[in-house]
Amino acid sequence: MNADVVIVGSGISGAASAYELAKAGLKVVLVDRFGPAAMASGWTLAGVRQSGRHPAELPLAKAAVEIWATLAEDLDGETGYRRGGNLRLARTPEEVPVIETLVKEQRAAGLDLTILPTTADVRAVAPALSETVLLASHCPSDGSADPATTVQSFVRAAERLGAVTRFGERAQRILVENGRVAGVETDKGRISSARVVVAAGIFGNELLKPLGYEVPLQVPMVTVLRSAPVDPVLEQVIGVANADCAGRQENNGRFRVTSGLQDWHGGLRERQSENGLRPSVLPTGASMAEVVRLFGEVVPAFAEAQIEDYWAGLIDLTPDALPVIDGTLDPEGLIVAMGFSGHGFCLGPITGRIISDLAQDRQTDLPIQPFGIRRFAGLRNSQEPATLHG
Ligand SMILES: Cc1cc2nc3c(=O)[nH]c(=O)nc-3n(C[C@H](O)[C@H](O)[C@H](O)COP(=O)(O)OP(=O)(O)OC[C@H]3O[C@@H](n4cnc5c(N)ncnc54)[C@H](O)[C@@H]3O)c2cc1C
Repeated sequence: MNADVVIVGSGISGAASAYELAKAGLKVVLVDRFGPAAMASGWTLAGVRQSGRHPAELPLAKAAVEIWATLAEDLDGETGYRRGGNLRLARTPEEVPVIETLVKEQRAAGLDLTILPTTADVRAVAPALSETVLLASHCPSDGSADPATTVQSFVRAAERLGAVTRFGERAQRILVENGRVAGVETDKGRISSARVVVAAGIFGNELLKPLGYEVPLQVPMVTVLRSAPVDPVLEQVIGVANADCAGRQENNGRFRVTSGLQDWHGGLRERQSENGLRPSVLPTGASMAEVVRLFGEVVPAFAEAQIEDYWAGLIDLTPDALPVIDGTLDPEGLIVAMGFSGHGFCLGPITGRIISDLAQDRQTDLPIQPFGIRRFAGLRNSQEPATLHG
């Protein structure tokens, strides 16, 4: 099989790239060893957030949020996107200056973010929050989406535009001829292509290492609990100053709540599901109890709800907690989009546009210089504090 571009990985980064490239008229093959949203893009909280972003990521997050507004229409599919706002809470006097500084810095960076200075102000915006919350930042243009539905919508839209999808197929090696990418060898055969996009999340290095590249990743785990549906009480995505929990209420009434970053115990099972083989990571009982305690303290209705589902998700965490988005590599034709460090879901739609530009040898008008893979030469042994905030 021949293609203009092979994309390895059908999470939101790869699926959005496939859509954009197919829309541009290129012959695209999208390969995933499991299927759409099988890993981080399905495990995620799926907050669509600009607030709390590193300054280098903020222009991408803002551009992404603009796309999210009309994404369902553009894809002619569902996304479950809701611009319900994001609140980041201070629960102790020590957390108050953390939120105040965040608001000051991000307002200076041009983000529409305000402070809700008292418990009463916070509860006027989000009555479901408990009286233990002291103050909060509020970004009304942030929101959330339904992750699996969104990735499916990208995939279907790409397919309608002619993209070929090959799920349950594992890329084993990127082929190189005369200093240029020549395709991908998978467990089912060869796909010839002068361009390959590695959007393979925590597994990306398996393909990069033989080519002499490696994104120095840590892989922490996040525990996720999902409740049975309850009456809608919470519009916003909730984060907290020290990022030890986050959560939101889905459009269907279910609470979807996450822990902070935890050490991964190393277990990853592959299980048959109705959609084929899927990877799964189990949280521990202690981590689940901790999520209930921490999030239940700020949203009491969650502690009352019945828990319907639970899982853990893995994070492709880089030393500076920023992604790798790079098309300047040797061999020519190799493009990398991975290492989103726990906040790549929101960016998905803009990642797709950037990758589409790079794969067509076009300059992107977004500032992606901070995301080059070569920056890690001096960073291998350091680690910026990385946080999840929805
Ligand atoms: C619990 C949790 C909460 C999160 N909360 C948020 C949030 O609120 N907001 C936010 O913006 N982000 C959040 N994130 C992060 C976000 O979900 C991820 O950054 C994003 O989904 C990454 O998408 P991706 O497409 O780059 O990678 P992934 O979704 O991991 O996709 C990689 C794909 O590559 C496939 N693959 C790997 N190797 C191969 C191979 N050799 N051959 C073929 N296929 C291969 C895998 O099967 C997988 O489907 C969260 C993540 C987690 C886990």
